Amino acid sequence: MKAGSHEVVIIGSGAGGGAAAYGLAMKGVKVLVLEAGPRFDPFSDYRLSDESWEKTGFPGKAGSTGRQTFAPMQELDPARSTLLSWSAAGGRKNQTEQRLPFKYFHVRGVGGSTLAFTGEAHRLHPESMQMQSRFGVAADWPVDYATLEPFYSEAERVIGVAGPGDQGARYRSEPFPLPAHPLSYGSQKLAAGAESLGMKWDANSRAALSRPYEGRPDCNYCGNCNRGCPRTDKGSVDVTFLHKAVASGFCEVRSGVTVTRIEAGENDRVKGVHLVDAAGGEHFLDTPELIVSCGAVETPRLLLNSANPHAPDGLANESGQVGKNFMETLFWTSTGLHPDPVGSYRGLPADSISWDFNAPDAIEGVVGGCRFNAGVWESEMNGPIAYAQRVVGGWGRKHKETMRDVFGRALTVGAIGESLPNQRSFIDLDPDQVDGNGMPLARIHSHLDGSELDRLEFMAAKSREILKAAGAGELLEEYGAYDFFSSTHVFGTCRMGDDPESSVVDAFGKSHRWENLAILDASVFPSSGGGESPSLTIEAFALRYVSAI
Ligand SMILES: Cc1cc2nc3c(=O)[nH]c(=O)nc-3n(C[C@H](O)[C@H](O)[C@H](O)COP(=O)(O)OP(=O)(O)OC[C@H]3O[C@@H](n4cnc5c(N)ncnc54)[C@H](O)[C@@H]3O)c2cc1C
Ligand code: SF4
Repeated sequence: MKAGSHEVVIIGSGAGGGAAAYGLAMKGVKVLVLEAGPRFDPFSDYRLSDESWEKTGFPGKAGSTGRQTFAPMQELDPARSTLLSWSAAGGRKNQTEQRLPFKYFHVRGVGGSTLAFTGEAHRLHPESMQMQSRFGVAADWPVDYATLEPFYSEAERVIGVAGPGDQGARYRSEPFPLPAHPLSYGSQKLAAGAESLGMKWDANSRAALSRPYEGRPDCNYCGNCNRGCPRTDKGSVDVTFLHKAVASGFCEVRSGVTVTRIEAGENDRVKGVHLVDAAGGEHFLDTPELIVSCGAVETPRLLLNSANPHAPDGLANESGQVGKNFMETLFWTSTGLHPDPVGSYRGLPADSISWDFNAPDAIEGVVGGCRFNAGVWESEMNGPIAYAQRVVGGWGRKHKETMRDVFGRALTVGAIGESLPNQRSFIDLDPDQVDGNGMPLARIHSHLDGSELDRLEFMAAKSREILKAAGAGELLEEYGAYDFFSSTHVFGTCRMGDDPESSVVDAFGKSHRWENLAILDASVFPSSGGGESPSLTIEAFALRYVSAI
């Protein structure tokens, strides 16, 4: 199989691959995107008006989730019992003495995991990019905030990000394209609580349109971004970067195409890829230039599975760093019941946020920051089934009466914190299990060090404090990363850096050795930031790569 007239082939169509395809197509470069997952049609696939909307979640389609395995996880420490997940209705969620793998949340599809993402659109805190030189942990980014800034702005324009006038340390060369969304009533309660504690609680910057924008309508505040946005106002990659790339005539996206191995030659150039098409046919495709954008779990899997005599330890693994430095989502949620009806199911998910503890030195005694946000939607406490199963017990008339009284009174504070790399967190190939194409599955090794748990303790304590100050101190449930691996943000398995001895790609995402190979996705992050959502940074980094070719 030939790439035809395509000059660049991209594997994966998520945040990294989609933004790279857009940037290249805008430059008049002919791009072919190979995507393992299916296409989703926002208007017919996201059935939020069906009666069963709450039970459905993000719709599954054949091939839309990949399989991974998990190495055994750490023993739980009795001294950290305040970090256990629990609910008033069901008690301890993890009944074992060991941390459990719950899920690596992701989507395989045209648009990647952004199809199901909430749509927070964050720039990294500038100081969180120098964690090694300032604090002796993780690695420094070989690119600084000032260099990324114009590309952040470009990505925000492509998406139509809505945000507030000022985000403190994150200085901007231009305003957000759209004004911030108004705070929901639930968020106003949280804001009042946080402000009574001396915290700033502001509108979040969101990839959801606050005004009609470039043919897409504004948000209707249905609250179901994680189930797929049926209006296209959420800035997932399919309706923004990829839509524009394809419309330019320079980009073709082939779905249902899984790359199983990359073939590299003697001359430090990649020759092409082995793939399986939607009908199960196996092919070899020449790749003049190749970009790998499969995400922080699947990119190292593909590279490690592409070992050959010229790259015996895996492709682009001359440093031995492919798969290493895996960073996950260090999260916490506390949900409480407010005494008044606050209609907390209304509004835009994660519409408000506090950045007060986001700088890497903002939490006393702990390196690495975190942020707090309104989180009732992500804790999936926005529908009657959730209330019936998790809040309101009993049957019959009593159940109905309580439901009428309680529905909409749950408030959640969510927190996400810095995840620092450690030697026990990495991705390798499972020695026993393969997928339908015979490719070894990625195996996730995850370990939380003491410093992560200290940060998590701060996040949990502050979340409870904010809820209490907001009037919702009667806790219903808490859920966190201590006793469950449950990640939506993953990073770091092909870290970028200036030194080929200790990094996989350079400051533009280009392989240190393989001349026509680049990696553009979450795997290149040298550190995770202080709880920021990663997609905007992945997209900005991909646009910067394009600017240099
Ligand atoms: C529920 C949820 C909520 C989230 N909320 C937010 C948020 O609010 N804000 C935010 O910024 N981020 C959020 N994220 C995270 C965000 O979606 C990811 O960080 C981002 O999409 C990662 O981009 P990526 O390019 O690294 O990988 P992905 O977007 O995961 O894309 C990788 C693509 O590569 C494809 N692929 C993999 N292997 C192969 C192969 N061998 N051959 C062909 N194709 C392949 C996959 O099918 C996939 O489509 C959320 C994620 C989830 C799941
Ligand atoms: S809340 Fe807005 S962005 Fe989210 S799914 Fe609903 S309409 Fe789309």
